[in-house]
Amino acid sequence: MINLKSLSKIPLKPNSLYVIDIDETLIYYKHLPKTWWDKIKELYLPVYDGDIVKTNKKALNVWERIVKNSKPHPVESDIFEKIIKYCLQHNSTILLLTARSDYMDTYTRDHLSIVYPYYNPEIIYCNNENKGIHLEVYLQTTDRVYETIHFVDDKLQNVIDVCAYLPNVNGYNLSI
Ligand SMILES: [Mg+2]
Repeated sequence: MINLKSLSKIPLKPNSLYVIDIDETLIYYKHLPKTWWDKIKELYLPVYDGDIVKTNKKALNVWERIVKNSKPHPVESDIFEKIIKYCLQHNSTILLLTARSDYMDTYTRDHLSIVYPYYNPEIIYCNNENKGIHLEVYLQTTDRVYETIHFVDDKLQNVIDVCAYLPNVNGYNLSI
């Protein structure tokens, strides 16, 4: 696993698969910083008598409601556009792997299209489940053989999960 300060540090290779997280990796919302999660969980934890599973579910629920009415901003739009272009020209594929729930599809596509107007990506919604499992299932259901597979996420635990399930994947933890 490699620590990255920018998407520009991802090695670009032909015939490869680039699996990329969405929130805080491609887009972000100004009023929903990473610290928002800790604050909302702190607020709800006593409400749910310390039940962390119920608290996490509630936090995600609130986050999704706020996101629906929020304006997305690109994390590093120029660099991501370069990655899209490279992949198109070198037989490589981009797959977005998000913790978001599948019922967020319309909002997610709307927000991505605001930031990247001509880009219509393939997206896997993990419903807040282990990203490693979802990526493994995806790879089992595709006939395509990739020379290299790369996974980028701002959340360290997601990179750990994916690399644990799929040791041949190059994992990158993005911290901008
Ligand atoms: Mg993220």
